[in-house]
Amino acid sequence: MDSQEMNLRLAIVKTCRKLESSGLIVASDGNVSCRVGPDSILITPGGVPKGELAAGEIAKTGMDGSLLEGPLKPSSEIRMHLLVYRMRPDVSAIVHAHPPIVTAFTLAGVPLDTKVLPEAWLMLGEVPLAPYATPATEEVPRSIEPHVAESRAILLERHGAVTFGQDLAQAWMRMEKLEHCAKILFHASLLTTAAACRR
Ligand SMILES: [Zn+2]
Repeated sequence: MDSQEMNLRLAIVKTCRKLESSGLIVASDGNVSCRVGPDSILITPGGVPKGELAAGEIAKTGMDGSLLEGPLKPSSEIRMHLLVYRMRPDVSAIVHAHPPIVTAFTLAGVPLDTKVLPEAWLMLGEVPLAPYATPATEEVPRSIEPHVAESRAILLERHGAVTFGQDLAQAWMRMEKLEHCAKILFHASLLTTAAACRR
């Protein structure tokens, strides 16, 4: 393993720890991947608490999902990651998480209107909602496919969100910003209701 691959593995571990410590994932939730060469990716394994992940547990796979290296099976959401890499040559890293407020928006059927916050709009652009798909099935890539070409982040109905980036730092920041934006919009809606009650 060369030093570039080891650095990417360590960056995935760091991203997973930040996702867990920020409350964007719990237990064995979520998955993180990045390109490691023209024909291969690194991706977190399934069923493992991501906050405790070790660099050596990360799977290396081909672009068809075949395991090239690693002691554990790659994430069951690998098909979603591979679809994005196939459709977006500009994307080199993907983060999937279950941010609580973002996910609550999808449950309530409220769109996440990033346009009202200039910095969220600049970082995320329009954030579409992919219709419900059973996690870990072929339905997930099918549900996001219409939005992949034009998006930096996609909400997954009753499930969570996925963000893309040129690298892991960018994909992580987009996920962090997404939940932050949802928190602000949620609190604004509470204050609007409170203000209406006082009238
Ligand atoms: Zn998930």
